[in-house]
Amino acid sequence: MLQEKQVVLSGIRATGKMHLGNYLGAMKNFVDLQNTEGYQCFYFVADYHTLTTNPDPDELKTNLPGIVLDYLAAGIDPEKSTLYAQSSVPELAELCLLIGMVTPIGELMRCPTFKEKARKQPDNVNHGLFTYPVLMAADILGPKADLVPVGEDQLPHVEITRFIANRFNSRYGKVFELPVALMEKAIRVPGLDGTDKMGKSEGNTIDLSDSADAVWEKLRVAVTDEQRERRSDPGRPYLCNLYALHEFVSLTDIVKAIDEECRSATIGCIDCKKKLAENITAILDPLQQRRVEIAKGPDYIRQVLHDGGQRAREIIKETVAEVRQKMGLIMY
Ligand code: SF4
Repeated sequence: MLQEKQVVLSGIRATGKMHLGNYLGAMKNFVDLQNTEGYQCFYFVADYHTLTTNPDPDELKTNLPGIVLDYLAAGIDPEKSTLYAQSSVPELAELCLLIGMVTPIGELMRCPTFKEKARKQPDNVNHGLFTYPVLMAADILGPKADLVPVGEDQLPHVEITRFIANRFNSRYGKVFELPVALMEKAIRVPGLDGTDKMGKSEGNTIDLSDSADAVWEKLRVAVTDEQRERRSDPGRPYLCNLYALHEFVSLTDIVKAIDEECRSATIGCIDCKKKLAENITAILDPLQQRRVEIAKGPDYIRQVLHDGGQRAREIIKETVAEVRQKMGLIMY
């Protein structure tokens, strides 16, 4: 008997340029999953979700194809993975409404990401922000995803999805398998400002589109170990974000040497940063070249998104039909 493939699903909001943290922490893993036997991958750009915090239509129209271009340049193959825009599958909005009927508002109010976002944008605590986890549950349950690669901060969303799926199954009969968070490869790439996460909204990123000069300009002023005020001060690489970045992008021998040279003050931060800039640029160069090649094909991105959207719709439509039938809804 043929073994059914496990469905992997991940989405990203269309809020800005893709950065090194996205690439190292997620996209590389997505490409590996895509190329792993036994997995069927669904990757989408969450444009509905984007509207909860970034309502600018022009930005959305520019950011979304840019992200898809980066995914393709990183190695996502639209023949192997289903790549789509969330809003091109309007059935997800219907599924969100339907599973919302089994979602207690207490669960949503407890959601830590809602609290955090409401704190960040007190003038725009909108309904979409509040029901974000329900739409995310629809994203996951629509194609009946088995595995959801997530960072630690998104774990509560997978938990809520499991809770909603369980409640639905108990009330109406089984439709959903419970998805599982795929945490083992989730890695957190530190920011250039000394904080522990590189993020678009934190403004502490190296973007995938940054030129060698831009990378250097950002690294030149990046935060290092505060103890190294002078070149002769011994450092603590284990406390320095740039050392952590070296661990992601530099060869093991170089990382080991920097560890020793930083502690003994035989390397200065400027030289250490120069090595880091070279190694980051060596990763970005081929991505940028591939991006330019892909972007040359007129309408290619639009076609990829159209085809992916159609494929996703076919599958998600079936789930919605099943849900409607269980809930007693008839299309008259
Ligand atoms: S030498 Fe490198 S690892 Fe050490 S503090 Fe400076 S930048 Fe960080």
